[in-house]
Amino acid sequence: MSDAQNAGSPGSPGSPAGELQGLTAIVTGGASGIGLATSLLLASRGARVAVLDLNAEGLPEGLTGFAADVTSRESVDAAVAAVAEWAGGIDIVVNNAGVSAIGTVEANSDDDWRRVLDINVIGVARVSAAALPWLRRSEHAAIVNTCSVSANNGIPERALYSASKGAVLALTYGMAVDHVREGVRVNCVRPGTVDTPFVSNYLKKYDDPVAERAALDARQPTGRMVTPEEVAHAIAYLASPAASSTTGTALDVDGGLTTLRIRPQ
Ligand code: NAD
Repeated sequence: MSDAQNAGSPGSPGSPAGELQGLTAIVTGGASGIGLATSLLLASRGARVAVLDLNAEGLPEGLTGFAADVTSRESVDAAVAAVAEWAGGIDIVVNNAGVSAIGTVEANSDDDWRRVLDINVIGVARVSAAALPWLRRSEHAAIVNTCSVSANNGIPERALYSASKGAVLALTYGMAVDHVREGVRVNCVRPGTVDTPFVSNYLKKYDDPVAERAALDARQPTGRMVTPEEVAHAIAYLASPAASSTTGTALDVDGGLTTLRIRPQ
């Protein structure tokens, strides 16, 4: 049976291939890493996927790009309106665009703070606000935000990044309560260290990136970093009608980093 034949209606039990058939999803930061893996997975499950990214060209087949900068309300409003016109509605928003920031509070400038909070935090609010009028009309509305283990753990030289992801966690709870009676679920995933360009670029700063990568793998309880596809599966679950009673939660996808204590070998 083909995926299309197997599709059924959204939420049909036992038909994961088609569980998002007929639904439209926006994925911010969908041109790379976790966002790209999520976009491909949602599309494989039948969703129409709109990738909102700074550069949304050259995407794999099955994904449609809409250039947008989440730091600009004008840009976000225009892109969300274009998606709604293209698809006739919006059912799922994955607020995933984000940037890293390294350094202590002494090292980070006011401009660093403004830039990172603008993308990682206000970007989530901007895209959600633009999409909410469409989400309210959907019978399967869901927002999934990409948070991070750093929201709940002190990680060296990540005070700014942690503060931004702590805010994403609080924003998830706040939006979940504000929109629960409107039928819009809001959840987040908390990835650990995920092997994406986000991490590869950071590793380039070391004299021996290969050795540093191996050390990073070894620091994980599982002995390896999380894959973008593993995070995508968690996002897809929270976005799907199968999670219809799940809202205001954070799902850890961190290989046990937050809760497991592994003795050094
Ligand atoms: P990535 O760098 O591979 O992808 C991020 C994407 O966001 C890029 O395509 C980039 O163009 C886009 N983006 C950046 N600024 C934007 C803007 N202003 N407007 C629109 N798009 C913009 O990173 P990734 O590792 O896939 O990270 C995705 C999300 O996951 C981020 O929110 C990040 O904080 C979070 N996260 C990553 C890790 C990790 O270890 N990789 C761990 C926890 C959380």
